[in-house]
Parts: sequence; structure tokens; C-alpha cells
Amino acid sequence: MEVGQKFDKAIAADTRSVDVPIGALKGLPQDWIDAHKPGADGKVKITTNYPDYIPVMSYAEDDSLRKQLYIVYRQRGWPENQQNLAKMLSLRAEQAKLLGFANWADYITANKMIRSEKNVAEFIARITAASDKRMRAEYAILLAELRRLDPKIDAVEDWQQAYALGLAKKRKFDFDAQALRPYLHYDKVKNGLLALTSKLFNVTYKPNLSAPKWHPDVEAYDVYADDKLFGTIYLDMHPRDEKYKHAAQFSLQSGVAGVQLPIGVLVCNFPDPKTSNGLMEHKDVETFFHEFGHLIHHVFGGQQKWARFSGVATEWDFVEAPSQIFEEWSKDYETLKSFATNDKGEVIPKALVDKLRASDDFGKALWVRHQMFYAALSLNMHNRDPATLDQDKLVEEIQNKYSAWRFVPGTHMQASFGHLNGYSAMYYTYMWSMVIAKDMFSAFQKAGVLDPATALRYRKTILEPGGSKDAADLVKDFLGRPYGFQSYEDWLNQKKKK
Ligand SMILES: [Zn+2]
Repeated sequence: MEVGQKFDKAIAADTRSVDVPIGALKGLPQDWIDAHKPGADGKVKITTNYPDYIPVMSYAEDDSLRKQLYIVYRQRGWPENQQNLAKMLSLRAEQAKLLGFANWADYITANKMIRSEKNVAEFIARITAASDKRMRAEYAILLAELRRLDPKIDAVEDWQQAYALGLAKKRKFDFDAQALRPYLHYDKVKNGLLALTSKLFNVTYKPNLSAPKWHPDVEAYDVYADDKLFGTIYLDMHPRDEKYKHAAQFSLQSGVAGVQLPIGVLVCNFPDPKTSNGLMEHKDVETFFHEFGHLIHHVFGGQQKWARFSGVATEWDFVEAPSQIFEEWSKDYETLKSFATNDKGEVIPKALVDKLRASDDFGKALWVRHQMFYAALSLNMHNRDPATLDQDKLVEEIQNKYSAWRFVPGTHMQASFGHLNGYSAMYYTYMWSMVIAKDMFSAFQKAGVLDPATALRYRKTILEPGGSKDAADLVKDFLGRPYGFQSYEDWLNQKKKK
């Protein structure tokens, strides 16, 4: 849609900034301060771009700096996008009506795993209730943290939460994510992931040296399973000038049985052992595993008669689940100890991985609730008459209902909430597929996370059928029962698996 492109453009084109005295930078990392020299007026310019925004919200001690930057960040795209969004919503509503649906939310969910607008609302309500107790407990810890700095504080505000979370984690876990890096050399992680998936899914990777490549750094592997060629994968893993800056999996060719094999590409920006020490952050390892899950899904799901039934063509709200399940392996000690060693050959200590998990876990209910604010906003923008919609009022109402952080006057986050274009009413999908991924992983937790029989069943029932069946049926075939919420709720409330 043209108006959707306008909406996205207005966000991308609108970088805002605040100018502050150098004294306001206290708490920020020294290399960040060094890179932000004051101008002729003695003030430092801080923009709403991520490399400024994230460190300031995480580390700046100055509360008013964080508040100022928070507010201008949530003014991006406004007021222009107020109109673009209104237009986008009314065009969608019109289209849904023409097709016989009550509203856009009901239309767009009808062919998804969740099936209806009503089910999305129920899902959001269920997750909100399930996270309530833990959300309140985590909130109390952050509030106590801020009260150490100022006993008069009576609420944790949205511009304070990342900073308070950092303080609380430091006090609770004394965990330094950097301590993991010596065990996470890129080559070891890559070889470990290939070995893991070889063992789990009974595949062999053979370097394909004659495959055409767009850069000498790119590697190609042919993927054999059951002694048969299943497809080819490309790994383009390190940064270069003018390369795509994020991490993603792309399909170079969809598989069609008897016609063509699937070809998939992983594009990432991990440290290059040729130009650096090659040590990865654990977050990067998690991303590597996640994106590799898409790649494996693409290869195994690409053996169907029609490309429209391939792995990537499963229902929109299921397609992330087979990648999210891979994140579980990236944090599993049995898996990590199989490849994560330092340059002395010492295996990563279990205590370190336990700390990583505990630290990652803290704050998750607060995160879940803020995600439910986004999901409810995306739904409620699309389930009512756009002609009478007051966008600002709706954001305020929904944020106060779902998020632990109350609405901040003067902000218009809907004007820069890019997912309203791409996801429209379906922001729920991320949490939905996470529920499914946790449920599927529970079968591995029961049988052993590296159990080959479970992995082979997963390959045959989830990955290989691709989009040829309803996702709910795939999950049922794998688990031997319909999908459920128990594993997700156990994760949320930190119940240990038997
Ligand atoms: Zn993904």
C-alpha cells in the first residue's frame, strides 16, 4: 500500500535529537562519551538513533536526560503519520467490509493459526493474566532500586525502567555478559551448530566450493539427509561495507519436489575471525541459532510438490516457532558444552551459563506485559470504526491497561510504531509463536534436549510437511496432543521441568 510506504518513510526520515551539557552524560560508557564531543555551544547532541538511544536509556544517571530523549523518541513521525495511519486504517476497514468481514482484524486473522479477532483478544487476556503476579513482583524490585536513589519516588516510569533493570540485575546477579565471550569464538559456534543439527536431524553438510558466490567470504554447503541431496545453504556471516546491517534468512530459491531444490541464505554481521578476535556476544549466538532455524526449516520444508506449501509458507503466526525453538538450544548447557571452549581448551563453566539464564529471566514478565500493550494496540487499532478513532486516547488507555509503565503525556508512539504497517493487527504473533515453541521444546526437555528420536520426529512432523498442513495439526502430530499453554506458563513462573 502506498500509504504504508509513506508511513514507514516518515519514521525513517525523522531523526530527532536533544542537546545537553556534557555533565549530563554521567554513567554512560567512556568510549561512548569520547565519541560524543560537545559542539561550539558546549552542548552534546544526542539523537534518537539506536546507538545513542539504547545506551542513554540503559546507563545515563541523569533522569531528566532519559526523560527528554524518551519523549522526542516517541514524537518521531508525528504529526505527519497521524494522518497516514488514519488513512491506512480506513482503507483496511473498507477492504475488510467489501470481503464480508466485520473489521480488518477479523479479516487478517481468518487464515492464520489463531483464526479470529476474538481469539486474539482472548490470547492477550490470557497472557496478561498469566504474567500478572510475576510482573508485580519484578516491578516492586525495580521500584525499590530507584528508591535507593530517591526515597520519594512512587512509580517506575517508562524512561526509567531500562536503567532500573540494569541496576537490579547488577545487584542480584553480579553478572557480566562479557565473561562468556572467550568461550564463544565464531568458528567454534558455527562448527558446533552444524554438528548439533547434523546429529539432531541426521544431516551432513558438505562444503560446495563450486557454487556461485557474491563475495569471497561467503560459504556454501550442500545439505544431505538420508543420503539424498536436500538443498544448499549459504552463510554470509561477517560485516562488510554497504552490506545489510541486520541478521536474517532469505530464500534464494523455493524447493519444488522433482523440479528444484531449496536454496537458503543466512546474512548476519558477527565478528570476523580474520579481522578481529572473533569472539561473539551470547546474544549473537542466540541470533545465529534463531536464523539457522529458519534455514533448516526452508531446506526440509522445500521438498513439497508446490512451492506454496514450502516451509516458509506455513501460517504467518507459526513461522517463527521453528526458529524460536532453536534459541532454547543456544542457552542449554548440554549443547553449549559440546562446542564452547576458550583458547586454552577449557569448557564453558556451568555456573556461568546458569547466571546468564537467571539474568536473562529477570524482567521477563515486565517485558511480556509491554509486548501485550503492543499486541493489544495493534489489534484495537483494527477492530473499530477508524472514523471515530482517537489515536492518542487509545494508546494512553491501552498502555495503562497492559504495560507496567504508564503512558507519558506528550508522546505519540503510534506515529513511529512501524509494525502497524507490516503486522497491522497481528503483533500478537511473536508471543503466540513463542507459546508454541515452548510447548514443542517441552517434548525435548522430557526426552533429553539432544534426543535423536524426538529430533527426527520433529523433522518429520514439523519441518518436512512445511505449509502443506494447518500448523495446529503439525504441532498435534509432533506432540501427540493439541498445543497448550502449560509450558509457556511454567517458563513464565519459572517452574522447573521434571
Ligand atoms: Zn525469525
